[in-house]
Amino acid sequence: MVRVRAPNPSLLTLDGTNTYVAGGWVVDPGPDHPGHLDAVMEAAGGRIEGIALTHSHFDHSEGAQPLAERAGGVEVRLPEDGEEVGPFRAMATPGHAPDHVCLLFADGICFAGDTVLGRGSVFIAPGEGSLLAYLDSLRLLQGLSLKVLCPGHGPYVNDPAAKIDEYIFHRLERERLLLEALQAGARSEDELLDYAWSDAPVELRPAAALTLRAHLEKLSAEGRLPADMEPEGA
Ligand SMILES: [Zn+2]
Repeated sequence: MVRVRAPNPSLLTLDGTNTYVAGGWVVDPGPDHPGHLDAVMEAAGGRIEGIALTHSHFDHSEGAQPLAERAGGVEVRLPEDGEEVGPFRAMATPGHAPDHVCLLFADGICFAGDTVLGRGSVFIAPGEGSLLAYLDSLRLLQGLSLKVLCPGHGPYVNDPAAKIDEYIFHRLERERLLLEALQAGARSEDELLDYAWSDAPVELRPAAALTLRAHLEKLSAEGRLPADMEPEGA
């Protein structure tokens, strides 16, 4: 297994999207960047049998068609739950994106896409994302005895159980703080962020605001929001 990091660093992609070559297949080709796709071809020894995606977000999938063409027209697959593609078995892990899957490979190796990152936490947007589904997906992953997670961004995760525990704890801790703030009467976005995301650096405040909305969606779906916070028409 080889990792090739794409040159697309940002707040959300960390130091860039990780592309992997495993069992002759490519996982998440990343952006359509000629130099990156060259590096992926080279890492694959010039021969690619197929391309698998963890989800359809552009920072993972944009380079898929161009790479498939370079490789002589190989297939590009975003498999469904339980499907086997090339050397992988897909497991549905919605949350970050509705079509997200983790790709299980040999020896307890799991290509985790954006379900678990090597650093920091996963961005769950309201609407397209779902915190409720995300927590279920984390618990599902936790039930497998994985040896290493190969994340879509950041370094390898060599202790998957500890990392997933930490992720679940982190989300539930945010939720606990948020419920505390709501109970204390906080209602505006600023008040809720000040209380439950007081540690978020100012440049991450917009992302925190979206995450807050994803939390409110979850609480609403569970019937745990104060009545005066329910969205109109709900
Ligand atoms: Zn990503």
